[in-house]
Amino acid sequence: MSTEGDRRPPVLVRLGIQTGLVSVLGAHLLSPRHAYLFLGPPGSGKEEWAIGFAAALVCPNGGCGECGDCRSVLAGMHPDVNVFANRDGSMSVDDARRAIKYASLSPSGTRYRVVVMEEFENIGRVAPVLLKAIEEPPPSTIYVIVASVVGNEMATIASRCVKVDFPPVDAAEIETYLVSRGAEPEEASTAAQLCGGSLAKAQELLAGGFLLRRLSLWGSAARDHPQSGFELMRSVGGLIGFVDDVVAERKRKGEADLAELRERVAKGGVTRGAIKEAEADLTRELKWLRRSEFELGFAIMLREMHPGMRGEGDLGAAYQAHSRLQQRVGVAMRRLAAGVSEVTALGALLGEQP
Ligand SMILES: [Zn+2]
Repeated sequence: MSTEGDRRPPVLVRLGIQTGLVSVLGAHLLSPRHAYLFLGPPGSGKEEWAIGFAAALVCPNGGCGECGDCRSVLAGMHPDVNVFANRDGSMSVDDARRAIKYASLSPSGTRYRVVVMEEFENIGRVAPVLLKAIEEPPPSTIYVIVASVVGNEMATIASRCVKVDFPPVDAAEIETYLVSRGAEPEEASTAAQLCGGSLAKAQELLAGGFLLRRLSLWGSAARDHPQSGFELMRSVGGLIGFVDDVVAERKRKGEADLAELRERVAKGGVTRGAIKEAEADLTRELKWLRRSEFELGFAIMLREMHPGMRGEGDLGAAYQAHSRLQQRVGVAMRRLAAGVSEVTALGALLGEQP
């Protein structure tokens, strides 16, 4: 179907994910509403879309993706597009006031000022401060609120926004996206299948070139039952060593970024507070990465043992074995979350009779 209202702005097309939204949001560009809520699970592309949509709004050509305005929005440098992250619910009343202050300003040369607020589900006690501002912004201001769920505190604000749903991304779309950005087709396909509809997760799977080793290690942990205590410990040690490697690689990258930031402090471009924040972010991220790497390993084990993937022998027995593995994995995850040592939790998981 093609009507005059159908618009496919290149800057939205090039996002390459959630392509079904291109014409939906493209149609909004002609007369945008004052507030949008981009709602979807982590990795569903809503943050990328918030920036792409902001570019299309301020672009004099309706979202060409080429002009100075588009490029500067995509690079995070445009004066009329203000992005507020709210990591871990860290937005203070002062931050909220600052956001409102920006929102009250006229755009500096483009048609709109766009205020993007990320991780809005953690809005907490600043919700009342923001409500009135979001309800009645100046006519040239557009809010794009990004959240993974609508929490109680933000329900009223959410009701004032045009809601745009971001479903988990289709595996085929993720695969195409990854290949278009240079991933090997086989790795892209595997990452797309394992990522549960999260583009961010798929990219993380591909990062550092660990994917094939990850698949082979956890896959054989699922298949090969250790015949002795020695074999069990070797297998557990191999998995933990692999997780160490993945985390160490990320840590190396993070520390290089921090060193660069510190240099900019010396030149006066960055505050010391920003460094502290970046250090805390990295520590949090590494902890999260470790946990998520184990969860991923467990998902690979379950996939490896899934009767649909094996296609051999007694199907009933295969389903029973899979469901027992699922229970053991559940126990291992609870143990890790409770702070039981990795050696103990994995030893119990791999050591039990399948
Ligand atoms: Zn443009």
